[in-house]
Amino acid sequence: MKSYRKELTFNLPSRRGYVNITRKVQECIDESGIKEGFVLVNAMHITASVFVNDDEPGLHQDFEVWLEKLAPEKPHSQYRHNGFEDNADAHLKRQIMGREVVAAITNGKLDFGPWEQIFYGEFDGKRPKRVLVKIIGE
Ligand code: ZN
Repeated sequence: MKSYRKELTFNLPSRRGYVNITRKVQECIDESGIKEGFVLVNAMHITASVFVNDDEPGLHQDFEVWLEKLAPEKPHSQYRHNGFEDNADAHLKRQIMGREVVAAITNGKLDFGPWEQIFYGEFDGKRPKRVLVKIIGE
């Protein structure tokens, strides 16, 4: 069995945003040389997510509106976590959107349905954050 590990770094200019990282993950698979196996992709920070969904701008706006209803950023004073920090909403948004994605690799490619794409979701940006890519297989 072969294994491969890489960290990707993202530094979004805004507090919240989504980045399609499917191509970067496929580049890792290509680099690993693994043809059959699994890839794990996880955010290494507790205010960011990695998830699978459709690459469609309207949907990303819908996520923003939906998450702001569930865990509005402001007022910052509504959260016990805030004080030293102001990112309680980002912790909650990450919890809903998830930490990681595990995907199958078949014949050297992500074995996805027609609309599945991997996203990095940022909820407390403007600083560098890491995503771990771990691949096992042969
Ligand atoms: Zn915090």
